[in-house]
Amino acid sequence: MTSLSHADTDGFFGEYGGRFLPPHLEAPIAEVAAAYAEARQDPSFMEEYAALLADYVGRPSPLFLARRLTAEFGGAKIYLKREDLNHTGAHKINHCLGEALLAKRMGKRKLLAETGAGQHGVALATAAAILGLECEIHMGAIDVAKQHPNVVRMQLLGATVVSVTDGGACLKDAVDSAFGVFAADYADTFFAIGSVVGPDPYPSMVRDFQSIVGNEAREQIQLKEGRLPDALVACVGGGSNAMGLFSAFLNDPSVAMYGVEPSGKSLDVVGEHAATMTLGSTGTLHGMKTLMLQDHEGEPTAVHSIASGLDYPGVGPQHAHLKDVGRVQYVTASDADTLAAFQLLCRTEGIIPALESCHAIAHAVRLAPTLSTDGIIVVNLSGRGDKDIDYIADRLGMSAPA
Ligand SMILES: *Cc1c(COP(=O)(O)O)cnc(C)c1O
Repeated sequence: MTSLSHADTDGFFGEYGGRFLPPHLEAPIAEVAAAYAEARQDPSFMEEYAALLADYVGRPSPLFLARRLTAEFGGAKIYLKREDLNHTGAHKINHCLGEALLAKRMGKRKLLAETGAGQHGVALATAAAILGLECEIHMGAIDVAKQHPNVVRMQLLGATVVSVTDGGACLKDAVDSAFGVFAADYADTFFAIGSVVGPDPYPSMVRDFQSIVGNEAREQIQLKEGRLPDALVACVGGGSNAMGLFSAFLNDPSVAMYGVEPSGKSLDVVGEHAATMTLGSTGTLHGMKTLMLQDHEGEPTAVHSIASGLDYPGVGPQHAHLKDVGRVQYVTASDADTLAAFQLLCRTEGIIPALESCHAIAHAVRLAPTLSTDGIIVVNLSGRGDKDIDYIADRLGMSAPA
């Protein structure tokens, strides 16, 4: 049996993970794996990473007791791990800086990635700028039109945004396009994946770079409360912010863990949710074996969430394993639950959260009243919501004051 914390030597977590690649991508990914295996043992690499997290990202991020939110529900204390306060406003910068440092160490000139809503692209373009690397981001033409502010951000940061018009001009086509460039140009290029997904070593590597979140939270809660929390709650798209928080507590059986995925508009209709853990089955996607939402041919189905960062038909293989062995419970929050949680956090705590993170808030406020007032819940507030306010204003039918 593999451990809860680590993949086996072939990159498998239980039956999930591994490396499922076309032959021409095997050598480039093996090169990344070898370089990371070496870098993670090198104290100077880890020190450089830690220094960037402290001085550039602004870590440690606070662990904040949400007193007014807690009071609304009269149960366990709700603490928020404030990843929204990081430079660029979310947890993604943690692993983008790690990947960019590794690329530099490997002598690569350029970072390459696809992005859907643009959040990964912006974080990666930021990491490329601070480390003096080139950055090329592939984005479906439909997303380029929808996510104009993020396209501008990436360009301001010096990245080249490639608008992909092939196929449906969406994320899947952007992935294919970026992988095409990578295969042709890997001597110079590092492919930077945006979550704990993809072929080994990415699920382990991205988790390691995100583990700072859980390591800090563990120390912070012990200082504030003198003990470990009763429960952790995090939203799950690919699963990087959740793995980052969970990784420090996997071997503490007293700590319950909840991953929250989007039930969107409806769990009953294909394409109206992204509840991979709840409704998915085993398949192969983006170079890994994992749980995924798929049709009869094994093609990923359409997905939906009010939060574009959770709009993914697969999930990181370690999560699939943690579900199988029962260590983490995976639950859902709907678009409506999420919108209510968004408004609640704005008004009770003066924090405008990312819609992704609101899935975790929605579950935390369901859980809190089931625990005693001595209970402790830590929620990963994975990002800030500035990016979402135009959508929210529209959705809530808000108008300018008369
Ligand atoms: C991208 C994103 C997520 C989802 O990604 P994970 O890899 O599942 O963490 C969650 N929250 C925010 C704010 C994001 O930008």
